[in-house]
Amino acid sequence: MTQTPVTFASPLQPASYSWEATDEEVAARYGIDVSKIVRFDLNTSPQPPDFLADLLAAGRFEARLSEYPPSDYRRLVEAASAAYGAGADEILVGAGADEILDLIGKAFISSGGTAVIPTPSYAMFRVVTEQRGARAVAVPRIADRAWAFDGDALREAASTADVVWLCSPNNPTALAEPSGAIETLLSGITADAQVDGSRPAVVVVDEAYAEFTGTSLLPLRARHPNLVVVRTASKAYALAGLRVGFAIARPETIARIAPYRPPGSVSTISVTAVTRALEEPAAMRRNVERVAAERERLSRDLGDAGWQVLPSVTNFLLVRFDDPGRASAAADALLRVGLVPRTFPDGHPLAAYLRLTVRSAAENDRLVAAAASLPA
Ligand code: PMP
Repeated sequence: MTQTPVTFASPLQPASYSWEATDEEVAARYGIDVSKIVRFDLNTSPQPPDFLADLLAAGRFEARLSEYPPSDYRRLVEAASAAYGAGADEILVGAGADEILDLIGKAFISSGGTAVIPTPSYAMFRVVTEQRGARAVAVPRIADRAWAFDGDALREAASTADVVWLCSPNNPTALAEPSGAIETLLSGITADAQVDGSRPAVVVVDEAYAEFTGTSLLPLRARHPNLVVVRTASKAYALAGLRVGFAIARPETIARIAPYRPPGSVSTISVTAVTRALEEPAAMRRNVERVAAERERLSRDLGDAGWQVLPSVTNFLLVRFDDPGRASAAADALLRVGLVPRTFPDGHPLAAYLRLTVRSAAENDRLVAAAASLPA
């Protein structure tokens, strides 16, 4: 398998992990031309918005790139404030959602503490937790309830935790938590903390894929100061290479994270382009519509090729195979023609699954053709 999965050291040692293989590494390993590689493993959008090329060509940046971006990212914060319906003091800017998760870890997870993760979920939750010298407590999701989290078990585990890491819609299971489930959990955690006289765990809801569903838990922050919502320009906005993400929470909560923020981890080019993307969301909305249509088409065509595709509200699909060996054989067949799926290591609850990003129609056609040519 070419994909080196995220790997972990013992929880008692600093966590370590490795990144995805690069296009060049995959091409070299499979002896194919790098131009043939298509990333079905990263959940990005295949094309940046049209305005980006004009913005970069206009020569607007030359005079400004010898200086730092404004340390408060003021215009970007204003644009995010309008786009998310939050106050400027409720928003924190970071270099992608990943830096935001790191800052949340630094602000709230104590060495020797715990953080709770309904599993499977986004791999960085565990990495960030272990990097803080804390223990990641995995609470298994329920496979036959569309991988929904176990609210009672989470509430129990949260009573002694610093942070609860949620992701909705969840990567890699592709569905949002059932309506009301996160609100019920938040209320339960607050009630238990009141009984104990303790501070409730910080509940992070990573909404990297929220634009694909049109719904958000942002309004819940009014009643839940321990809620931190994470958003990104990487997925629906199709600007992953610019590395911009946000934490959105009540001002007093943002004030607890802000001291950990580096003064200028987001470049002037990124600040300018993402400001524009947030101010003119038409390109993002078109992308969301295109992805939804292409997702249904790809799901149907892979189904026709004999693959078991699970329902998705995101820009990626989870495909189930009869056993891990078959998932691994399918991954290998895709990689041989340059198509890179997300695989899950042995022992992972999704070892018999592949995760595949919905890409352009032409790229998806290559995936369907490769699936159809596999022995049943
Ligand atoms: N959160 C989730 C759930 C993700 O799937 C990803 C992307 N893989 C990220 C965060 C990271 O996003 P960003 O590019 O903004 O760092």
